[in-house]
Amino acid sequence: MERKVRVRFAPSPTGPLHIGGVRTALYNYLFARQNGGDMILRIEDTDSQRFVPGAEDYINEALAWLGIEIDEGVREGGPFGPYKQSERRDIYRHYTQQLLDAGKAYLAFDTPEELEKARAEHKNFQYDASTRMSMRNSLSLPAEEVKRLVDAGEKYVVRFKIEPGRDVEVNDLIRGKVTINSSILDDKVLYKSADDLPTYHLANIVDDHLMEVSHVIRGEEWLPSAPLHVLLYEAFGWIDTMPEFVHLPLLLKPDGKGKLSKRDGDRLGFPVFPLEWHDPKSGEISSGYRERGYLPEAVVNFLALLGWNPGDDTEIMDMATLIEKFSFDHCSRSGAKFDFEKGKWFNHKYLLELSDMDLTQMFKPVMKANGADPAAWSDEYIARAVGLVKGRINFVDDLWAQSKFFFVEPTEYEEKAVRKRWNEDMPRIMGELIEVLEGLEDFSAAAAEPVVLGWIADKGYHLGNVMNAFRLTVVGECKGPHMFDITELLGRDETIRRIRLGIERLPH
Ligand code: GLU
Repeated sequence: MERKVRVRFAPSPTGPLHIGGVRTALYNYLFARQNGGDMILRIEDTDSQRFVPGAEDYINEALAWLGIEIDEGVREGGPFGPYKQSERRDIYRHYTQQLLDAGKAYLAFDTPEELEKARAEHKNFQYDASTRMSMRNSLSLPAEEVKRLVDAGEKYVVRFKIEPGRDVEVNDLIRGKVTINSSILDDKVLYKSADDLPTYHLANIVDDHLMEVSHVIRGEEWLPSAPLHVLLYEAFGWIDTMPEFVHLPLLLKPDGKGKLSKRDGDRLGFPVFPLEWHDPKSGEISSGYRERGYLPEAVVNFLALLGWNPGDDTEIMDMATLIEKFSFDHCSRSGAKFDFEKGKWFNHKYLLELSDMDLTQMFKPVMKANGADPAAWSDEYIARAVGLVKGRINFVDDLWAQSKFFFVEPTEYEEKAVRKRWNEDMPRIMGELIEVLEGLEDFSAAAAEPVVLGWIADKGYHLGNVMNAFRLTVVGECKGPHMFDITELLGRDETIRRIRLGIERLPH
């Protein structure tokens, strides 16, 4: 029988969710939705040393912003809760005991100093079958001594007793079969009496089993743990329902080899976190995609293609399309270069999908921030301005630089253009242009353009020079959308007023 698809995203709340973690969550979500399965959010907070307040809320907020919906989790509840590992201590204690009773794990009393000494004395020391009998644990010490130590409240850890010399197979849906020999593994710590908490390995396996997880989809950095996990499933007798493993390729630096880091983002100027993060300890603020002006749809589309492709060169895909097309067959084994310029391109594309009115609403706060009160113009006027320049933007913020002349007259004039286009004839020619514009019956672009161009031709003027001088007076620089679209929207009075201002202010 096919088992129900159940996947989990299992972050540790040790800081803001990294963009690589977001991609892991996304792939889990795509796979779950494609198969009518469940998406679990499990908070793996068993490392009390590394717990960071606010990190869990951050994870929830980031996933919600991106449209990655959770079916079962701390907030959502569900039949397999609690979904926070620090609330599952009883469960881990029970399963730790089960391994101890079966002789598959043992107590170890070695102090940090003793471990340090062993490492110093033996090159490449590893706590395993070859060394464990020389250490202080329940295998090497007499039973009464073990009991005495436990009763005396000595701190201990529980270690997994790994049988050496066995080939352990890990089947990965992207990488295929990976075999390693158990002799290279150490007797991993599964539980620590000091804080009555399991380690990642035990809690992760127990929960994946109890929560009936069908597929473990996670970053490549967890691949080295997979053989140990297989052995744990075996030790518990759960091998038949062990989840499938899927280890996703690393996200690499944009400009070279190696794992993408926060430093790359700082160096090259892009965020590595979905949302802005305020570090509660240092007060440091790290930028986020949301605050930088990215649309969540663009971030999702961009991330989906970092490590997966649809099998053809389709690039623009919304969540529904991604859900339909996603497959592990088209996930790459090698790392995916983090091409942040491509991220901007996606944002550009998704902004163009929005209506001019929607963009207008998003633009209003930007206008305000630039000292222009949006209430001074009709929404329709702003929307038409936005519509004329939106092809040139990657972010809503860019709209201001591209369209500000629709809202404020130029206060300075681009120097290079003045030198090139504004000669001593221009004040007179612009004066004539004002007359031409005043004589127009219809000031629309379609009506004005042929008349103005006809006048330039009749007079034998240089088309480029005159039109650029015209643009200079109205816009302040020789850039922007089609000139007659600009004048149509500004209207006759404002256009002529600006030409007059130009004649006054520019050299004459
Ligand atoms: N808690 C681990 C993390 O922070 C989970 C790894 C896994 O998915 O097994 O990524």
